Amino acid sequence: MVFEEDVMLLVSMKSFLISIMILCLSFAQSHVNESAHGLGNYNVPFFKADSYRPNVQPPDEFLGFTLGSRPAHHDEVMNYFNYLDKLLDNINLVEYGRTYEGKPLVYLMISSKRNMTNIKDIKNSISLLSDPRKIENSKTANKIIKNTPAIAWMAYGIHGDEISSTDAAIQLAYQLAAGDDSATKKILKELVISIDPNENPDGRERYLQQLLQWRGEVVNSDASSLDHSGLWPYGRGNHYLFDLNRDWFSSVHPETKGKVSAILNWNPQFLVDSHEMGSMDTYLFNPPRAPYNPYMPKTIFKWWDKIAKDQAAAFDEYGWSYYTGDWNEEVFPGYGSSWGIYIGLVGILYEQSGADGSIVKKEDGTITTYRETVHHQFISSIANLQTIANQKEELLRDYYNNRKKAVSTKNAGKAFIFSSKSNKTRLNELGETIKRQTIEVYTNKNDLKLPKAINSSGETVTRQNIPAGSLIIPLDQPLNILINNILSFDIRLDTKSMEKERKKLLKNQGSTLYDVTAWSLSHAYGTDSYYTEVMPKISLKPFQAIPNKGKLIGKDPRYGWAVKSDDDQFYHLVGKLLENKIKAWCAKEGFKIEGEYFPRGSIVIRNNSNKNMKVGLLKDLASKYGVDIFAINTALATDGPDLGSSNFTMLIEPRIAIISGPPTSTYSFGATWHLIDYKMKSRASLI
Ligand SMILES: [Zn+2]
Repeated sequence: MVFEEDVMLLVSMKSFLISIMILCLSFAQSHVNESAHGLGNYNVPFFKADSYRPNVQPPDEFLGFTLGSRPAHHDEVMNYFNYLDKLLDNINLVEYGRTYEGKPLVYLMISSKRNMTNIKDIKNSISLLSDPRKIENSKTANKIIKNTPAIAWMAYGIHGDEISSTDAAIQLAYQLAAGDDSATKKILKELVISIDPNENPDGRERYLQQLLQWRGEVVNSDASSLDHSGLWPYGRGNHYLFDLNRDWFSSVHPETKGKVSAILNWNPQFLVDSHEMGSMDTYLFNPPRAPYNPYMPKTIFKWWDKIAKDQAAAFDEYGWSYYTGDWNEEVFPGYGSSWGIYIGLVGILYEQSGADGSIVKKEDGTITTYRETVHHQFISSIANLQTIANQKEELLRDYYNNRKKAVSTKNAGKAFIFSSKSNKTRLNELGETIKRQTIEVYTNKNDLKLPKAINSSGETVTRQNIPAGSLIIPLDQPLNILINNILSFDIRLDTKSMEKERKKLLKNQGSTLYDVTAWSLSHAYGTDSYYTEVMPKISLKPFQAIPNKGKLIGKDPRYGWAVKSDDDQFYHLVGKLLENKIKAWCAKEGFKIEGEYFPRGSIVIRNNSNKNMKVGLLKDLASKYGVDIFAINTALATDGPDLGSSNFTMLIEPRIAIISGPPTSTYSFGATWHLIDYKMKSRASLI
C-alpha cells in the first residue's frame, strides 16, 4: 500500500531527479560549441583491432565530439567514467579525494568480470606479497604469483597544461571496457587496471579556460602563440600553483594525499605517469639516463628494457619518432614514476610533445595534431599493459622478492629516529607524513639511550638520549627502499656520474640531472634526527599524532601573559591575537621569568596596554591552537631582558598583499599564498 504522502514524495523526488538530470545535461552540453582545432586531417583509428562490443557507447558518440579534436573537460571525463561505471559490472569508479576547488579525483578500476568478482581476494593476495612477513612459506607465495592478476596504475595529467594524456585515458577506458579483441582480453585477464584520468583537474581547467580565451576562428599552428602557451600562472600547478609532480612523498596537497593513499592501498606492480614536453620535440619514454639513485632496485633495468622494446615496436608500426635514455633521470623520489620505483613497482614516464588542444607546425613544416598526441599516449599505454600482461608472473615475482629483501634480518636493528622536545606540532606532522606512505612509525614510551648513531650533520654520537614520544622508524619493513630514500640525511650519487656531471658543467653543457638534486624529510622538518644500526630492543607502540592541548597557565596575572615561540602553532596563534586587536610585544632575545624560559621570538601581552582584553578569548585561542599561555606577574626577568625593555618590539597587525603576475615565480607566489591563506587562515590581497 502506498500512501498519498508517499506518492507525493515520490512525484516530487522524481521531478527533482529529472531537474538534476537536465542540469547535468545542460552542464555537459555547455562545452559543445568549443572549437575543435585539434583534429586537422588526422584520421588514423586509435586501435588497429577495431572490434568493440556495441553495448558500450564510444567516447565520440557519448561526448558529442571527436576525441582528440579538442581537450575534454574534467566534467566530461567524469560523465563518461560515471556512464561506464553504471553500465558495466566489471568496473568500479572510486573517488579518492577532492581538489581545493572541489573537483572530484577518481580512479576507474577495470578487469575481467571474473577478476572483478574476486577483487577483494585479489587485493588481499597482493597485499600479502607486498608484506612477505605475512607469508608463511614460498609455496604460498608461488601460488599467489601464479593465480593472481598484477595491478597496473595508469596516472594521467598531473601537470594541468600537459593535456593529451587525459583524453588518452578516456580512450583507454573505452578500449578496456568495450574491446572485443584478444589483446584487450589478455590484458583484462592478467591485470587489474586502475585509470586515474586527471591527477590535477584544477590546473587542467585553468589551462583549458586560457586556451579557449585566446582561441580564434582560424586554427593556429604557431606553438608560441597565446592560444598555445596561455598566460601567468599557466596550468602546470594545482590551485595553489604547486608542482604536484614534486609532491609524491612530501604529500602536502589533497591531490597527492588521496592518490598516494589509494595507490598504497592497492599495492600495484606497475605505474605510468604521463606528461608532455616542448612542442618541437617528439616522444620520450624510459629507460631514463644516468645518474641513478643508489637505492634503485636492480630489477627495474630489465623491465625498462622489456617495456621500451615493445613500446618502440608499437610506435614503429606507425612510423612515429621517439627516443629513450635522454634528459630524464629518476633520482629524486618525489616524481610519480620514481616514487613508484621506490615503493617497489615498475615506474614509467611518458613525455609527449604538446599540441595544446590544437595543431602545431614543426620545424620541418609537418603538422602534429592534438588527436595524434592523444593517440601516442594511448598506444603507449596499451603497449605497456600488453608487455606486463604477457609477463605477469615475473612482474609479481620481482615485486615479492624485492619486498622480501626489504624485511630481511639484514635490516634488523636499523632505524631512523626523530625527536623534538619543544615543537610537538612539527614532530606530529612529520610522523603523519611518513605514516601516509604506509611506513610503520613507532614511538617510545620512556626516554632511551642510543648506544651509537649518526646525526643529521653526519657526526657519530654515542649514548645519545632520545626523549619519550620520539618517532622511530625501523628499516626491516616492506617499504625499506622508500624509507632510505626519503629519510636519509645525505644521498650521494656515484663518483663516475659526478665526474661526468662536472665535465659537462665546466663545458657549459648543462646538468645531467633534470631537476631536484637534494632532498630529505629529516632536514625539511628540522627535527633532531638520527640513524642507528644498533637500535635497543625496547617495547615500542605505534605512533599516533596527539595534538597539543593548550591552556592558560596561572590566572589573574598582575603584569600580563607570555607565549613561547617554539611550536609551529605559535605563529597561527599570534596571527589570531593580532586580528583580535590584542597588542603584543615580540622578544628579540630569550628571557626567563618566574621559572619559565621563553625563547627568542616569544611574545608578551601587557595587561595595561590591553584594558579591554577578555581572558576568555585567550583561553579559547590557547585551546584552539594547542599553545599554552603563561600568566606573568612581574616585568623583572631572572635571565635575559626585562619585559619593559627595548628588546621587545610591538607587533603590528599585518595587512598582507602577495605580489602575483610575471616575472614572479608561480611557485614562490603559490607557496606563500598557500601558507598564509590555507595554513594560517589569514586574509591576503593578491596584487
Ligand atoms: Zn609534466
